Amino acid sequence: MTVHVRPTEPKKLISGATGDWEVVIGMEVHAQVASNAKLFSGASTAFGGPPNDHVSLVDAAMPGMLPVINQECVAQAVRTGLGLKAQINLISVFDRKNYFYPDLPQGYQISQYKQPVVGEGEVIVDLPDGESFTVGIERLHLEQDAGKSIHDLSPTQSFVDLNRSGVALMEIVSHPDLRSAEEAKAYVTKLRTILRYLGTCDGDMEKGNLRADVNVSVRRPGAPFGTRCEIKNVNSIRFIGQAVEAEARRQIEILEDGGTISQETRLFDPTKGETRSMRSKEEAHDYRYFPDPDLLPLVLKPEWVEDLKGHLPELPDEKKARFIADYGLSPYDAGVLVAERETAAYFEEVAEGGGVKRDGKAAANFVINELFGRLNKEGRDITSSPVTPHQIGAILDLIAEGTISSKIAKDLFEIVFTEGGDPRVVVEARGMKQVTDLGAIEKVVDEIIAKNPDKVAQVQAKPTMLGWFVGQAMKASGGKANPQALNDILKAKLGI
Ligand code: ADP
Ligand code: MG
Repeated sequence: MTVHVRPTEPKKLISGATGDWEVVIGMEVHAQVASNAKLFSGASTAFGGPPNDHVSLVDAAMPGMLPVINQECVAQAVRTGLGLKAQINLISVFDRKNYFYPDLPQGYQISQYKQPVVGEGEVIVDLPDGESFTVGIERLHLEQDAGKSIHDLSPTQSFVDLNRSGVALMEIVSHPDLRSAEEAKAYVTKLRTILRYLGTCDGDMEKGNLRADVNVSVRRPGAPFGTRCEIKNVNSIRFIGQAVEAEARRQIEILEDGGTISQETRLFDPTKGETRSMRSKEEAHDYRYFPDPDLLPLVLKPEWVEDLKGHLPELPDEKKARFIADYGLSPYDAGVLVAERETAAYFEEVAEGGGVKRDGKAAANFVINELFGRLNKEGRDITSSPVTPHQIGAILDLIAEGTISSKIAKDLFEIVFTEGGDPRVVVEARGMKQVTDLGAIEKVVDEIIAKNPDKVAQVQAKPTMLGWFVGQAMKASGGKANPQALNDILKAKLGI
């Protein structure tokens, strides 16, 4: 695994009309904290309730209501910080970020500004080609989500739904270390994997539980950073890539025409594949940040942080390293298997479930090539697989014992996938056993030799013709002849 730390020499350049450009990207990811209750109230965070059903007096900002911090949300933020190998700040402060919006009844958002709960950390990002690089994390802070304005229910009225109001978000800010749309997508993918392993955010982008503000600028290779634009609330990995590409092209065109980029907040329109201006960029001082007088500074006990650290699950990078070391997997295969915690667990159940230790590489190949391929075709994921790790383990055992060939194993897998059943019983019942009875194989070989004197003459002159005989004999045996025995018998009879 090669790990490179930014900044590096530019590699992924975009060629414009007047020469090459490099795109620079930094991300602010908003991840909804997995918790039952909101950040400062006991109201439910459940998705999809009737409008204004999960709203306490605090979330509706009734006068005189006081926020009370939810310890579990803080624990989730700290776990995430630990998972990002980040600095945990034992003292942090909640500030009011003041702005007006109809779905923000307080008139401010409680957020963290100068003293966030988590400081500098890192994410190791894996690219599809197997290469890895490190992205710096600047900070992670806790903040409240806003409510939702609804404009499309009535031609004359707008509505406000406060169910989301006050739900805890983690804003995870990266350094501007990303250099292409592909890197930006891979970064969010990896970050989401880490959050899911930790159980601190479900990463469901369709529900808006994970969304990214994508900051994009362009520069000549090696030049200082250019002025950036921030594309707000991009809610799918694919759109993140498209937004980066569209925005980089737009900026390059302006610069090549002799114009300048003005710093602004933009929106990505997926149907048009372009970004459009939303508002000019506000500065931090526009929000009149000040410490929330209703909340004391958040002080964490070092022992409490240590305890959370001691209970972290094994994270994807560690798991990948272990899969490579313990099972002899390639970094690529290990990366595929650890991308979801459920797939990694499934693989381990195949490789050594029920106390049977199997060949790791064979298990990985079967899971990745046969099972994932088949599940994909069906549009299902591992959690709804009709085939259990135990059944795959049994198929692998049948191959390893020489009871079935790997070709027959594919047929067997298909039967088990569609009809279920114990693989050993299926093999017996359907006569799928590999023929290792040498007499039976000899009989087949003798017949083929007798029927094809011309081919026999050819193979004696050109031994690579042997493949033709193997193919014929396999066919005649219904694919069940033991390949090694067949080869040996053919060679002996043909005298090659
Ligand atoms: P703000 O507080 O105004 O949102 P920050 O300095 O916190 O600005 O940066 C926000 C995000 O913008 C970070 O993810 C950072 O990496 C990214 N960023 C900063 N400068 C640039 C740049 N020149 N090009 C692209 N992204 C940038
Ligand atoms: Mg910001």
